[in-house]
Amino acid sequence: MYAELSLYEKYAVVPGTRVDLSQIDPNDTGDFATKKDARKALKKLRKKLVDLQERFYAWDARSILIVLQAMDTGGKDGTIEHVMQGTNPQGVEVTSFKVPTAEELAHDFLWRVHKAVPPRRMIGIFNRSHYEDVLVVRVHNLVPETVWRKRYEQINDFERLLSENGVVLLKFYLHISRDEQARRLQARLDDPNKRWKFSKGDLEERALWDDYMAAYTDALSLCSTPHAPWFVVPANHKWYRNYVVASILVETLEQLNPQFPPPEENLDDVVVV
Ligand code: ADP
Repeated sequence: MYAELSLYEKYAVVPGTRVDLSQIDPNDTGDFATKKDARKALKKLRKKLVDLQERFYAWDARSILIVLQAMDTGGKDGTIEHVMQGTNPQGVEVTSFKVPTAEELAHDFLWRVHKAVPPRRMIGIFNRSHYEDVLVVRVHNLVPETVWRKRYEQINDFERLLSENGVVLLKFYLHISRDEQARRLQARLDDPNKRWKFSKGDLEERALWDDYMAAYTDALSLCSTPHAPWFVVPANHKWYRNYVVASILVETLEQLNPQFPPPEENLDDVVVV
């Protein structure tokens, strides 16, 4: 029953509209009352995903690019781990975008990104992406406004190029509240096994929360298009976040309806000796 809900429509940012993140509840759990129910539903979805990915890989006609963006502790890593569990690793590639190297900075901002776009039959996941160039770069004034302002349109042009060349784009903003981030950062400090994930720099970024929200609002509002939609995923509850991302991915694959290629002719009489 749950799988029939179109979370794609529910959470997509309608192209041309202005997102108001303060009006989107990060605690939303949709139709689920409990974690247990959502986990059960996710398990079912994963079965579908595994089957669809196998077909998608064999079909060899398109690629899928999943963009994940979030504030620190927003759950990008956990989403990849839990949504993609059980899929064939041969058909999945994850690219994490870090502070650009000197060589990357000597090129246009999309140079390193374009190289990482998944080829046909692959599902590519960007852990951070070209959107950092209108997020961290904007918040920290790493380039003048005249430069980053132009990037929204450049990104739309780039994503249209990809889409017209067979790449199916899905962009997820994992929406957590400022309070939830505080809880997660504290948990990292408290748990010896999680401390490696904590960096004092996270607190400096946290202090810039409002600037980041303004930058995210522009990115989500200006760059959600029919061929490369943004989804705002309620992400305070990890189990709901995982369910929503998996559901939108499965729905997209179902729409694509990938087919196994036809076998060679006259195989019925073939005997393997
Ligand atoms: P993560 O936080 O994604 O797990 P890291 O702790 O290595 O991984 O953080 C990567 C860092 O790289 C982030 O602080 C991010 O803002 C930064 N970064 C990514 N892309 C860019 C960019 N284009 N310009 C500047 N900084 C960037």
